Amino acid sequence: MKKGLVIRSTGSWYSVKDESGKIFNCKVRGKFRIKGIRSTNPVAVGDQVFFDTAGDEDTGIITELLDRKNYIIRKSSNFSKHSHIIAANLDQALLVVTINYPVTTTAFIDRYLISAEAYRIPAILIFNKTDLYGKKEFQKLNEYKDIYEKIGYKCLEVSAVAKANIDQIKDILKDRISVISGHSGVGKSTLINVIDPNLNLKTKEISDYHRRGKHTTTYTEMFAIESGGYIIDTPGIKGFGVIDMYDEEIYHFFPEMFKLSKDCQYYNCTHTHEPGCAVKEGVENGTISESRYISYLDIMAGDDKYRGPGY
Ligand code: GDP
Ligand code: ZN
Repeated sequence: MKKGLVIRSTGSWYSVKDESGKIFNCKVRGKFRIKGIRSTNPVAVGDQVFFDTAGDEDTGIITELLDRKNYIIRKSSNFSKHSHIIAANLDQALLVVTINYPVTTTAFIDRYLISAEAYRIPAILIFNKTDLYGKKEFQKLNEYKDIYEKIGYKCLEVSAVAKANIDQIKDILKDRISVISGHSGVGKSTLINVIDPNLNLKTKEISDYHRRGKHTTTYTEMFAIESGGYIIDTPGIKGFGVIDMYDEEIYHFFPEMFKLSKDCQYYNCTHTHEPGCAVKEGVENGTISESRYISYLDIMAGDDKYRGPGY
């Protein structure tokens, strides 16, 4: 029996890398039950598994799935109660943001961040295209950084085109499994290309493959970066996919509000209209950013609360 990391999933076959770096083509034996969710796929990229090679050089059978620290899912379109696990054991979620070209709003960022919180994946903001910024854009960038760094989210300022601070991204990616998201046009492919040109070619091949309409729901691949670490390619998904949240738990995913909420007068305070609300007080005295509170109210009021970012 060998231990390995699942780096590719086609839905029926899995590429599993053993501890020496050798890759085996594996199938799954038996049924894996995963608590709390009904999934159309038992094993996903990022999973740590045990497998038997049965004397064969290149193929194997996955016999056991190790506990996951987290996973991201997408609802299967056909069966609303079934989910598809896109990837497991993510170390971080990188959101590529641009102030302009295109504009990334705090509303969008906040929706992404609450999904990351709900999935228990540390999120990092990467502000790209700084080579294009003038005084006004830098001002805006600093406003954004103030908001998010204060809460504890790491922020990087980079330019893929000017190759500025690319080493900082490489450092962050090193020896970790990362998922990269962001609006179309923010420079994800350009960044990946600068980080590792080889990787860019591979991710391009995958998205072309998907554009031809094959295996769009089941195929996922994790790419090894030359300087260390893995990037998960999730074609067709701008954010994380769908996540369910109850109204009364939404503020749990705004870490700065959650912290203050312990001082609210009512234990079931929704931080909208109640007297003695420590969160509202925080907004008034500047501990909580107004834009974050607006995002919170919008998500509470809107019907988009059942959808992930990017929808
Ligand atoms: P994606 O949709 O997120 O993958 O974005 P792309 O990587 O395709 O980039 C979209 C456009 O933005 C392309 O024309 C890139 O050349 C450009 N771009 C990407 N990064 C930068 C950057 O750092 N500075 C500038 N000026 N342009 C960039
Ligand atoms: Zn409150």
